[in-house]
Amino acid sequence: MNQQALTHRHFLFFPHVQLVLGRVGAAVHDLFQCRLYWFRDRGVAQALSSLAAGSSVEQASLGAGIPERTLEHYLEALRQLGMGTFSAQRMAVEGYRPGLLRSKAEKHLLTRPGGRVTIEVSDRCVYSCEFCTSNNLRTLEACSCGVWPKTNENAPIERVRDAIEQLNYIGVDQLIVRGGEPMLEQGRLWGVLEAAAGLGMRCEMHCTGFAVDEAAARRLAPLGMHVTLVMAGEEREAFDKGVGVPGAYDGLVKAIGHLASAGVAFSGKIPASPEDVEQACATADWAMAQGATGVEFIWHGPKKWTPLQFQSAMGPRAAADMSVDMEEFIRNGQCHTCFDHSCFISMDGKITQCVGLRQALGDLHMADMGTVLLDRRIEEASAGVARYQVPACTECEFRVACTGCLVRTIQLRGSALSRHAACNYTPETATWSV
Ligand code: SF4
Ligand code: SF4
Repeated sequence: MNQQALTHRHFLFFPHVQLVLGRVGAAVHDLFQCRLYWFRDRGVAQALSSLAAGSSVEQASLGAGIPERTLEHYLEALRQLGMGTFSAQRMAVEGYRPGLLRSKAEKHLLTRPGGRVTIEVSDRCVYSCEFCTSNNLRTLEACSCGVWPKTNENAPIERVRDAIEQLNYIGVDQLIVRGGEPMLEQGRLWGVLEAAAGLGMRCEMHCTGFAVDEAAARRLAPLGMHVTLVMAGEEREAFDKGVGVPGAYDGLVKAIGHLASAGVAFSGKIPASPEDVEQACATADWAMAQGATGVEFIWHGPKKWTPLQFQSAMGPRAAADMSVDMEEFIRNGQCHTCFDHSCFISMDGKITQCVGLRQALGDLHMADMGTVLLDRRIEEASAGVARYQVPACTECEFRVACTGCLVRTIQLRGSALSRHAACNYTPETATWSV
């Protein structure tokens, strides 16, 4: 045992170290190193909490009913990991209080005064992918790529353009257009894109590359667009099979050529199965070699798995999976990353928080976006869903590190206020189920 530990009776956690207590365990986050240390002993967790509040090592161990030597052993390990130091002085550190995080976020310029609006301009697609997130619950996130049939007439395009203007007026600075395949509805597509670009908004289109010819690419370029393309494989045969359309690969390669020639940045959306991660990685390498600026994966599971089995297989399986850095920690303490500064307008004018949610908060046929914003319907529907606010999770020590798809959580667990669909942890017993 370090001699210093024996003679100095307090322990000071350094400012980049955040202690989060659960019912049984405690998570000690090193926010600089993006590492997490997990204590699953109720007594140790309690003692760490007392130390953070300013108790001496002796008082903390006595109060928690654990031997002082045991506590000193853990503290010495934390000291060696650069997470704190022994001290002769009593020094309490600021406990975790979500209310304080906004001021910290502002200091670190992490708040997002802006936001994004996603607009569905087509309810059809040219592909028929097995991994389509709208009709396959064995996908990790409901918003990856999907196509939903409309249930009403198209929202008048003027209303949609007005909605973009009203959202931009309150600070929304990013527009994402998607379908299905947006290029199947070119009148609406160009109307929406040109309205948003004219307001100085950043514009992104999710599509298959269908009908992206030289003329289309040249029209996209001055709008400052980013295009996200579905890339279902690095080889022709696998690609065409994956999207269910012969010739799709050749069409995509041509579209990439046109985008590259016109100077339009693009990235890849790549289907990935836990049964064949290598294939997804090879496709990602191929996408980058084609000039993609980045890739994201559409995780989906084999048919033999139930949606909950798939979610469980993809969810965190150990405390180390819950590591977050300073930025993520602060952001998760303000909100849930799902529904964060976001809204969605479907082709038939329904307003929701997310493309995967179809329960309307408003309808552009009935009222304009200004009314929905004035009534604070989006804000209110998205309030209280951060994990530290959700009663099912308030006693979990991982609540400030835990994120997941809230739409899948609603679909598979019944409510956004349930534990995540991919949750494998039980805070009451500090045990993992996998
Ligand atoms: S490209 Fe996207 S929307 Fe179209 S079928 Fe495939 S997954 Fe669904
Ligand atoms: S979903 Fe599970 S791991 Fe995440 S905060 Fe809730 S109980 Fe903890």
